[in-house]
Amino acid sequence: MASHSVDECLNALGMPKKAQNILKTYWPYLGARCDKLDFAHYATMLERYIKTYPAVPSMKSHELSLATEDVIRNNGGNIRYNAEVTEILFDGERASGVKVGEEAFYSDYVILNCFPETAYKKMMPENKVSRKAKQLVNARKTGSLFFTVYLGLDCYAEELGIEDYTVFLYESPDSTIQYEDCNDTNRLFVIANCLNRIVPNASPEGTSTLFLTSLLTEDSWGYVEPQDYKKVKNRIADKMIEIYENKMNISVRPHIEEIVIAAPPTFARYLGTPNGTPYGYEMQPWDTMIARIMSLKKERFISGLYFVGAHGERSDGYSTTYACGHSTANEIVKEVKENGRI
Ligand SMILES: Cc1cc2nc3c(=O)[nH]c(=O)nc-3n(C[C@H](O)[C@H](O)[C@H](O)COP(=O)(O)OP(=O)(O)OC[C@H]3O[C@@H](n4cnc5c(N)ncnc54)[C@H](O)[C@@H]3O)c2cc1C
Repeated sequence: MASHSVDECLNALGMPKKAQNILKTYWPYLGARCDKLDFAHYATMLERYIKTYPAVPSMKSHELSLATEDVIRNNGGNIRYNAEVTEILFDGERASGVKVGEEAFYSDYVILNCFPETAYKKMMPENKVSRKAKQLVNARKTGSLFFTVYLGLDCYAEELGIEDYTVFLYESPDSTIQYEDCNDTNRLFVIANCLNRIVPNASPEGTSTLFLTSLLTEDSWGYVEPQDYKKVKNRIADKMIEIYENKMNISVRPHIEEIVIAAPPTFARYLGTPNGTPYGYEMQPWDTMIARIMSLKKERFISGLYFVGAHGERSDGYSTTYACGHSTANEIVKEVKENGRI
Protein backbone atom coordinates (compact mmCIF):
# COMPACT_ATOMS: atom_id res chain seq x y z
CA MET A 1 0.00 0.00 0.00
CA ALA A 2 2.91 2.34 0.66
CA SER A 3 3.95 2.42 -2.98
CA HIS A 4 0.42 2.93 -4.33
CA SER A 5 -1.70 6.05 -4.28
CA VAL A 6 -5.02 6.48 -2.47
CA ASP A 7 -6.79 6.44 -5.85
CA GLU A 8 -5.04 3.26 -7.02
CA CYS A 9 -5.93 1.38 -3.84
CA LEU A 10 -9.55 2.51 -3.67
CA ASN A 11 -9.98 1.57 -7.34
CA ALA A 12 -8.36 -1.82 -6.68
CA LEU A 13 -10.90 -2.39 -3.92
CA GLY A 14 -13.63 -1.66 -6.48
CA MET A 15 -15.08 1.09 -4.32
CA PRO A 16 -17.83 3.16 -6.01
CA LYS A 17 -16.70 6.67 -7.02
CA LYS A 18 -19.16 8.39 -4.69
CA ALA A 19 -17.91 6.43 -1.66
CA GLN A 20 -14.32 7.25 -2.70
CA ASN A 21 -15.16 10.94 -2.87
CA ILE A 22 -16.60 10.83 0.64
CA LEU A 23 -13.58 8.96 2.06
CA LYS A 24 -11.16 11.39 0.41
CA THR A 25 -12.76 14.50 1.97
CA TYR A 26 -9.93 14.87 4.52
CA TRP A 27 -7.08 15.10 1.95
CA PRO A 28 -6.41 18.81 2.81
CA TYR A 29 -5.26 17.64 6.26
CA LEU A 30 -2.24 16.14 4.50
CA GLY A 31 -2.17 18.66 1.65
CA ALA A 32 -1.26 16.12 -1.04
CA ARG A 33 -3.31 14.97 -4.04
CA CYS A 34 -4.96 11.55 -3.77
CA ASP A 35 -3.57 10.33 -7.10
CA LYS A 36 -0.05 10.87 -5.68
CA LEU A 37 -0.41 10.48 -1.90
CA ASP A 38 0.37 6.96 -0.70
CA PHE A 39 -2.59 4.97 0.58
CA ALA A 40 -0.82 3.75 3.74
CA HIS A 41 -0.39 7.32 4.98
CA TYR A 42 -3.93 8.46 4.20
CA ALA A 43 -5.50 5.28 5.54
CA THR A 44 -3.58 5.61 8.82
CA MET A 45 -4.82 9.17 9.30
CA LEU A 46 -8.40 8.33 8.37
CA GLU A 47 -8.48 5.28 10.60
CA ARG A 48 -7.43 7.41 13.56
CA TYR A 49 -10.21 9.91 12.85
CA ILE A 50 -12.78 7.15 12.66
CA LYS A 51 -11.57 4.89 15.48
CA THR A 52 -9.98 7.17 18.08
CA TYR A 53 -11.74 10.42 17.05
CA PRO A 54 -10.20 13.86 16.75
CA ALA A 55 -10.06 16.05 19.88
CA VAL A 56 -9.79 19.75 20.70
CA PRO A 57 -8.20 20.82 24.04
CA SER A 58 -10.59 23.03 26.03
CA MET A 59 -8.01 25.84 26.03
CA LYS A 60 -7.33 25.24 22.32
CA SER A 61 -3.98 24.10 20.93
CA HIS A 62 -2.21 26.60 23.18
CA GLU A 63 -3.06 24.27 26.07
CA LEU A 64 -0.80 21.64 24.50
CA SER A 65 2.07 24.13 24.43
CA LEU A 66 1.43 25.10 28.07
CA ALA A 67 1.34 21.44 29.16
CA THR A 68 4.62 20.80 27.33
CA GLU A 69 6.17 23.84 28.98
CA ASP A 70 5.21 22.46 32.42
CA VAL A 71 6.89 19.13 31.70
CA ILE A 72 10.07 20.81 30.47
CA ARG A 73 10.36 23.20 33.43
CA ASN A 74 9.38 20.54 36.01
CA ASN A 75 12.23 18.36 34.71
CA GLY A 76 14.87 21.05 35.03
CA GLY A 77 14.65 22.32 31.45
CA ASN A 78 14.58 25.95 30.38
CA ILE A 79 12.62 27.78 27.69
CA ARG A 80 13.52 31.07 26.03
CA TYR A 81 10.66 32.84 24.32
CA ASN A 82 11.19 35.43 21.58
CA ALA A 83 14.65 34.01 21.04
CA GLU A 84 15.42 33.34 17.40
CA VAL A 85 18.23 30.89 16.74
CA THR A 86 20.44 32.60 14.19
CA GLU A 87 23.45 30.29 13.94
CA ILE A 88 24.46 26.68 14.52
CA LEU A 89 27.78 26.29 16.32
CA PHE A 90 30.24 23.57 15.32
CA ASP A 91 33.01 21.65 17.01
CA GLY A 92 34.85 20.45 13.91
CA GLU A 93 32.19 18.77 11.80
CA ARG A 94 29.82 18.13 14.70
CA ALA A 95 27.03 20.57 15.69
CA SER A 96 27.84 21.77 19.19
CA GLY A 97 25.25 24.40 20.00
CA VAL A 98 23.27 27.39 18.78
CA LYS A 99 23.57 31.15 18.85
CA VAL A 100 20.69 33.48 19.64
CA GLY A 101 22.05 36.82 18.51
CA GLU A 102 25.28 37.23 20.48
CA GLU A 103 24.43 34.59 23.10
CA ALA A 104 25.80 31.05 22.65
CA PHE A 105 24.27 27.83 24.03
CA TYR A 106 26.35 24.65 23.89
CA SER A 107 25.02 21.10 23.67
CA ASP A 108 26.09 17.68 22.39
CA TYR A 109 22.82 17.39 20.50
CA VAL A 110 20.93 20.10 18.62
CA ILE A 111 17.30 19.53 17.59
CA LEU A 112 15.90 22.11 15.21
CA ASN A 113 12.21 22.69 14.56
CA CYS A 114 12.86 24.90 11.51
CA PHE A 115 13.12 23.58 7.94
CA PRO A 116 16.48 21.98 6.98
CA GLU A 117 16.79 24.39 4.03
CA THR A 118 16.42 27.37 6.39
CA ALA A 119 19.19 25.99 8.61
CA TYR A 120 21.46 25.19 5.64
CA LYS A 121 20.97 28.58 3.98
CA LYS A 122 20.86 30.91 6.94
CA MET A 123 22.42 29.32 10.01
CA MET A 124 25.72 27.74 8.97
CA PRO A 125 28.64 28.23 6.58
CA GLU A 126 28.05 26.74 3.12
CA ASN A 127 30.97 24.30 3.50
CA LYS A 128 29.08 22.48 6.26
CA VAL A 129 26.26 21.56 3.86
CA SER A 130 27.00 18.53 1.71
CA ARG A 131 25.98 18.28 -1.93
CA LYS A 132 23.54 15.50 -1.04
CA ALA A 133 21.89 17.62 1.64
CA LYS A 134 21.39 20.45 -0.86
CA GLN A 135 20.05 18.08 -3.51
CA LEU A 136 17.56 16.58 -1.10
CA VAL A 137 16.01 19.87 0.05
CA ASN A 138 15.90 21.06 -3.56
CA ALA A 139 14.15 17.87 -4.69
CA ARG A 140 11.43 18.13 -2.04
CA LYS A 141 8.32 20.18 -2.68
CA THR A 142 7.19 22.90 -0.29
CA GLY A 143 3.81 22.02 1.27
CA SER A 144 0.51 23.83 0.73
CA LEU A 145 0.09 27.47 1.67
CA PHE A 146 -2.79 28.55 3.90
CA PHE A 147 -5.30 31.36 3.63
CA THR A 148 -7.44 31.74 6.76
CA VAL A 149 -10.22 34.20 7.60
CA TYR A 150 -10.99 34.48 11.32
CA LEU A 151 -14.43 35.90 12.14
CA GLY A 152 -15.72 37.10 15.51
CA LEU A 153 -19.53 37.03 15.45
CA ASP A 154 -21.97 38.97 17.67
CA CYS A 155 -24.25 36.02 18.46
CA TYR A 156 -24.21 32.34 19.43
CA ALA A 157 -23.45 29.85 16.64
CA GLU A 158 -26.81 28.11 17.24
CA GLU A 159 -28.69 31.36 16.55
CA LEU A 160 -27.22 31.34 13.03
CA GLY A 161 -27.87 27.65 12.47
CA ILE A 162 -24.16 26.66 12.60
CA GLU A 163 -24.40 23.01 13.62
CA ASP A 164 -20.97 21.52 13.01
CA TYR A 165 -17.41 22.02 14.19
CA THR A 166 -16.05 21.43 10.67
CA VAL A 167 -17.54 21.42 7.19
CA PHE A 168 -15.63 20.95 3.93
CA LEU A 169 -17.14 23.06 1.13
CA TYR A 170 -15.89 21.97 -2.27
CA GLU A 171 -16.97 23.03 -5.77
CA SER A 172 -16.31 19.55 -7.18
CA PRO A 173 -16.68 16.17 -5.44
CA ASP A 174 -13.49 14.98 -7.21
CA SER A 175 -10.41 15.33 -4.97
CA THR A 176 -8.02 15.81 -7.92
CA ILE A 177 -10.05 18.80 -9.13
CA GLN A 178 -10.21 20.07 -5.54
CA TYR A 179 -6.40 19.92 -5.35
CA GLU A 180 -6.07 21.67 -8.70
CA ASP A 181 -8.39 24.43 -7.47
CA CYS A 182 -5.58 25.45 -5.09
CA ASN A 183 -3.64 26.61 -8.16
CA ASP A 184 -6.06 29.45 -8.80
CA THR A 185 -7.13 32.10 -6.29
CA ASN A 186 -10.43 32.42 -8.18
CA ARG A 187 -11.36 28.74 -7.71
CA LEU A 188 -11.33 28.10 -4.00
CA PHE A 189 -12.67 25.55 -1.58
CA VAL A 190 -13.39 26.37 2.04
CA ILE A 191 -12.96 24.42 5.26
CA ALA A 192 -15.15 26.10 7.88
CA ASN A 193 -14.58 25.63 11.62
CA CYS A 194 -16.69 26.81 14.52
CA LEU A 195 -14.82 26.11 17.74
CA ASN A 196 -17.83 26.99 19.93
CA ARG A 197 -19.57 23.85 18.73
CA ILE A 198 -17.00 21.82 20.70
CA VAL A 199 -15.76 24.34 23.27
CA PRO A 200 -18.87 26.47 24.00
CA ASN A 201 -16.98 29.11 26.01
CA ALA A 202 -14.23 29.52 23.39
CA SER A 203 -15.43 33.13 22.96
CA PRO A 204 -17.20 35.58 25.35
CA GLU A 205 -20.87 35.05 26.23
CA GLY A 206 -23.27 35.99 23.44
CA THR A 207 -20.60 35.61 20.73
CA SER A 208 -19.03 32.90 18.59
CA THR A 209 -16.09 32.47 16.25
CA LEU A 210 -15.91 31.01 12.80
CA PHE A 211 -12.76 30.49 10.81
CA LEU A 212 -12.58 29.71 7.12
CA THR A 213 -9.48 28.12 5.60
CA SER A 214 -8.42 27.50 2.04
CA LEU A 215 -5.22 25.97 0.64
CA LEU A 216 -3.16 27.60 -2.09
CA THR A 217 -0.11 26.51 -4.03
CA GLU A 218 3.13 28.44 -4.39
CA ASP A 219 2.15 29.04 -8.01
CA SER A 220 -1.23 30.62 -7.28
CA TRP A 221 0.11 32.94 -4.57
CA GLY A 222 3.32 33.56 -6.54
CA TYR A 223 1.37 35.64 -9.07
CA VAL A 224 0.35 38.20 -6.43
CA GLU A 225 2.37 41.40 -6.86
CA PRO A 226 3.25 43.36 -3.70
CA GLN A 227 1.14 46.35 -4.80
CA ASP A 228 -1.91 44.05 -5.25
CA TYR A 229 -1.52 42.30 -1.91
CA LYS A 230 -4.35 44.06 -0.02
CA LYS A 231 -6.71 43.89 -2.98
CA VAL A 232 -6.15 40.15 -3.56
CA LYS A 233 -6.30 39.38 0.17
CA ASN A 234 -9.67 41.12 0.52
CA ARG A 235 -11.00 39.54 -2.69
CA ILE A 236 -10.14 36.02 -1.51
CA ALA A 237 -11.61 36.63 1.98
CA ASP A 238 -14.79 38.05 0.46
CA LYS A 239 -15.11 35.05 -1.86
CA MET A 240 -14.60 32.59 1.02
CA ILE A 241 -17.34 34.23 3.09
CA GLU A 242 -19.59 34.17 0.01
CA ILE A 243 -18.92 30.44 -0.54
CA TYR A 244 -19.72 29.73 3.11
CA GLU A 245 -22.96 31.75 3.08
CA ASN A 246 -24.18 30.28 -0.22
CA LYS A 247 -23.35 26.66 0.45
CA MET A 248 -24.53 26.68 4.09
CA ASN A 249 -27.45 29.06 3.52
CA ILE A 250 -26.30 30.96 6.61
CA SER A 251 -25.94 34.74 6.67
CA VAL A 252 -22.85 35.68 8.68
CA ARG A 253 -21.94 39.09 7.23
CA PRO A 254 -24.37 41.16 9.37
CA HIS A 255 -22.92 39.48 12.49
CA ILE A 256 -19.21 40.08 11.88
CA GLU A 257 -17.75 42.16 14.71
CA GLU A 258 -14.10 41.29 14.18
CA ILE A 259 -12.26 40.00 11.12
CA VAL A 260 -8.62 39.02 10.74
CA ILE A 261 -7.21 37.69 7.49
CA ALA A 262 -4.08 35.54 7.44
CA ALA A 263 -2.54 35.16 3.97
CA PRO A 264 0.63 33.14 3.17
CA PRO A 265 2.94 36.10 4.07
CA THR A 266 1.22 36.31 7.49
CA PHE A 267 2.04 32.65 8.16
CA ALA A 268 5.58 33.18 6.84
CA ARG A 269 6.09 36.03 9.32
CA TYR A 270 4.99 33.92 12.29
CA LEU A 271 6.40 30.51 11.31
CA GLY A 272 9.53 31.42 9.35
CA THR A 273 8.84 28.53 6.96
CA PRO A 274 9.42 28.67 3.16
CA ASN A 275 6.54 30.72 1.71
CA GLY A 276 4.76 30.37 5.08
CA THR A 277 3.70 26.75 4.70
CA PRO A 278 2.56 25.11 7.95
CA TYR A 279 2.70 21.72 6.20
CA GLY A 280 6.39 20.88 5.77
CA TYR A 281 7.31 19.17 2.51
CA GLU A 282 4.46 17.81 0.39
CA MET A 283 4.25 14.03 0.24
CA GLN A 284 5.08 12.69 -3.24
CA PRO A 285 5.29 9.17 -4.68
CA TRP A 286 9.09 9.05 -4.16
CA ASP A 287 8.89 10.88 -0.84
CA THR A 288 6.26 9.03 1.21
CA MET A 289 6.06 8.72 4.98
CA ILE A 290 7.46 5.19 4.87
CA ALA A 291 10.27 6.13 2.46
CA ARG A 292 11.19 9.02 4.79
CA ILE A 293 11.18 6.76 7.87
CA MET A 294 13.35 4.21 6.07
CA SER A 295 15.94 6.79 5.01
CA LEU A 296 15.79 8.89 8.18
CA LYS A 297 19.28 8.06 9.41
CA LYS A 298 20.83 8.48 5.96
CA GLU A 299 19.37 11.98 5.81
CA ARG A 300 21.21 13.13 8.93
CA PHE A 301 23.99 14.86 7.09
CA ILE A 302 25.51 16.69 10.06
CA SER A 303 26.54 14.81 13.16
CA GLY A 304 24.78 16.00 16.33
CA LEU A 305 22.08 17.85 14.35
CA TYR A 306 18.47 16.64 14.18
CA PHE A 307 15.36 18.12 12.53
CA VAL A 308 11.81 17.67 13.81
CA GLY A 309 8.48 19.06 12.65
CA ALA A 310 5.98 18.99 9.80
CA HIS A 311 8.89 18.72 7.33
CA GLY A 312 9.89 15.47 9.03
CA GLU A 313 9.05 11.88 8.27
CA ARG A 314 5.42 11.91 9.47
CA SER A 315 4.49 15.23 7.79
CA ASP A 316 2.04 17.79 9.18
CA GLY A 317 -0.48 17.82 12.02
CA TYR A 318 -0.22 18.17 15.77
CA SER A 319 -0.17 14.48 16.63
CA THR A 320 2.38 13.61 13.95
CA THR A 321 4.74 16.48 14.73
CA TYR A 322 4.61 15.66 18.47
CA ALA A 323 5.32 12.01 17.56
CA CYS A 324 8.27 13.15 15.41
CA GLY A 325 9.75 15.14 18.33
CA HIS A 326 9.09 12.26 20.71
CA SER A 327 10.80 9.58 18.62
CA THR A 328 13.79 11.84 17.91
CA ALA A 329 14.19 12.65 21.62
CA ASN A 330 13.96 8.94 22.50
CA GLU A 331 16.64 8.14 19.95
CA ILE A 332 18.96 10.74 21.47
CA VAL A 333 18.25 9.56 25.04
CA LYS A 334 19.14 6.03 23.95
CA GLU A 335 22.39 7.22 22.38
CA VAL A 336 23.29 9.26 25.46
CA LYS A 337 22.70 6.20 27.66
CA GLU A 338 24.82 4.01 25.39
CA ASN A 339 27.65 6.42 24.60
CA GLY A 340 27.54 8.62 27.66
CA ARG A 341 27.61 11.92 25.74
CA ILE A 342 26.37 15.09 27.56
C1 LIG B 1 -4.90 27.60 10.47
C2 LIG B 1 -4.30 26.25 10.79
C3 LIG B 1 -5.10 25.25 11.32
C4 LIG B 1 -4.56 24.00 11.64
N1 LIG B 1 -5.38 23.06 12.20
C5 LIG B 1 -4.85 21.88 12.59
C6 LIG B 1 -5.66 20.93 13.25
O1 LIG B 1 -6.85 21.16 13.52
N2 LIG B 1 -5.10 19.73 13.60
C7 LIG B 1 -3.79 19.44 13.34
O2 LIG B 1 -3.32 18.36 13.70
N3 LIG B 1 -2.99 20.34 12.70
C8 LIG B 1 -3.49 21.54 12.32
N4 LIG B 1 -2.68 22.46 11.67
C9 LIG B 1 -1.31 22.07 11.31
C10 LIG B 1 -0.35 22.16 12.50
O3 LIG B 1 -0.47 23.43 13.12
C11 LIG B 1 1.09 22.00 11.97
O4 LIG B 1 1.19 20.84 11.17
C12 LIG B 1 2.09 21.88 13.13
O5 LIG B 1 1.94 22.94 14.04
C13 LIG B 1 3.50 21.88 12.57
O6 LIG B 1 4.38 21.72 13.65
P1 LIG B 1 5.90 22.19 13.55
O7 LIG B 1 6.53 21.86 14.85
O8 LIG B 1 6.51 21.67 12.30
O9 LIG B 1 5.85 23.77 13.34
P2 LIG B 1 5.24 24.93 14.24
O10 LIG B 1 4.10 24.47 15.08
O11 LIG B 1 5.06 26.06 13.30
O12 LIG B 1 6.45 25.27 15.24
C14 LIG B 1 7.70 25.77 14.77
C15 LIG B 1 8.14 26.81 15.76
O13 LIG B 1 9.52 27.11 15.54
C16 LIG B 1 9.69 28.51 15.66
N5 LIG B 1 10.90 28.88 14.93
C17 LIG B 1 11.13 28.89 13.58
N6 LIG B 1 12.39 29.28 13.30
C18 LIG B 1 12.99 29.52 14.51
C19 LIG B 1 14.30 29.96 14.89
N7 LIG B 1 15.26 30.23 13.99
N8 LIG B 1 14.57 30.11 16.22
C20 LIG B 1 13.63 29.84 17.18
N9 LIG B 1 12.36 29.41 16.86
C21 LIG B 1 12.06 29.26 15.54
C22 LIG B 1 8.43 29.08 15.05
O14 LIG B 1 8.22 30.41 15.49
C23 LIG B 1 7.37 28.12 15.60
O15 LIG B 1 6.91 28.52 16.86
C24 LIG B 1 -3.19 23.73 11.36
C25 LIG B 1 -2.38 24.74 10.83
C26 LIG B 1 -2.92 25.98 10.56
C27 LIG B 1 -2.01 27.06 10.00
